[in-house]
Amino acid sequence: MQDDKAGQDVLRFAPSPNGWLHLGHAYSALFAHEMAQRLGARFLLRIEDIDIGRCRPEYEEAIYEDLRWLGIDWEEPVRRQSEHFADYERHLKRLRDMGLVYPCFATRKEIQDAIIATGIPLQNWPVDPDGAPLYPGIYKDISRERLNDLLWDGRSYAWRLDTEKARAEAERIAGGPITFIEEGESPRGHKGRITVQPELFGDVVIARKDVPTSYHLAVVTDDALQGVTLVTRGQDLFPATYIHRILQVLLGLPEPRYHHHGLIRDETGRRLSKSARDMGLRELRAAGHSPQDIRRMIGL
Ligand code: GLU
Repeated sequence: MQDDKAGQDVLRFAPSPNGWLHLGHAYSALFAHEMAQRLGARFLLRIEDIDIGRCRPEYEEAIYEDLRWLGIDWEEPVRRQSEHFADYERHLKRLRDMGLVYPCFATRKEIQDAIIATGIPLQNWPVDPDGAPLYPGIYKDISRERLNDLLWDGRSYAWRLDTEKARAEAERIAGGPITFIEEGESPRGHKGRITVQPELFGDVVIARKDVPTSYHLAVVTDDALQGVTLVTRGQDLFPATYIHRILQVLLGLPEPRYHHHGLIRDETGRRLSKSARDMGLRELRAAGHSPQDIRRMIGL
């Protein structure tokens, strides 16, 4: 354990154990670890395993093994999100008490049907930065009676953020537009103070009936509880920061700096995915490659 010196930065790598690590993860982990060393910062590892259906213990074990093999070390104990649902629930409740979230019972099919019913062709309907169609608002302003009936029927639901209302409230609290400091680069090459555009996500899902969180709420909660001061992660998550900043202001959490790094792509220019087996760290290691070879492959 290092001293908790005032002003010392705290960085983290936060993988989800829902597949084997590949070169993209190696880049992200080494990037954060080396930045932490350069800054004389603390370095944390966080296991983001809220998706209980897709996360598996063998993937988590492999994360520890692969990172150690790469020469990365981290502070113990490691925070595992599945052990902290109460922390997320507390924040969800606060947002609910502020009237900024509402239960949405829509299935994918219902959302699709509602979009089709508008007469706008599905392929012209706007999608959020994750590629999901923007929520068409069904269930947003339903009556108390209807809500009670749906709950009585035991229907499953998700908690959605009323994004416009949330932004307005965040701006009221902050006394102006919500921004963040980008120390790396946005996908369009912007850096410095960036103003958020949460409307790109529409009314985004913040939690579910049986899991009281989503990626957005859990990340914001943990980064604050763990005292993270500099969030490093891939540029694919740049837009997510728009939602994270809104949540931080609403929940009274500190504002970290951000450094979104470029993504490792395969020869065809595609982003690596969990299924990119030939880029998997285990496969590369089994094929006789060394950690030094991995660094060379990702240009570090
Ligand atoms: N768990 C996320 C992922 O594996 C990363 C979260 C973050 O760095 O904010 O993509």
